[in-house]
Amino acid sequence: MNGFEIQFFWVVASLIIGAWSYNKGGSFIAGFAFSLLLSPPIAALIVAVRKPITSEIEKRELAKGSMKKCPACAELIRVEATKCRFCGEKVSEQAS
Ligand SMILES: [Zn+2]
Repeated sequence: MNGFEIQFFWVVASLIIGAWSYNKGGSFIAGFAFSLLLSPPIAALIVAVRKPITSEIEKRELAKGSMKKCPACAELIRVEATKCRFCGEKVSEQAS
């Protein structure tokens, strides 16, 4: 691999780590910049050990409208669901 290829993979790996960070409820930019400035393996390790921010992930799912909250157990379930997959409670198809 020449220098350009290494830089290319470095940036691609950083983009993946940024997306991974975002999926865990964090910031894409933070994960991307971290990986770019330090190195992808170190940033990947940090993202891997970091706990997902569940409240942030829930907020995004609710905002997207793809998920709703079960009125009985407050777990996130699909908007189309008529029965909660966590507690078995019957739920209406309309988002509350
Ligand atoms: Zn439920």
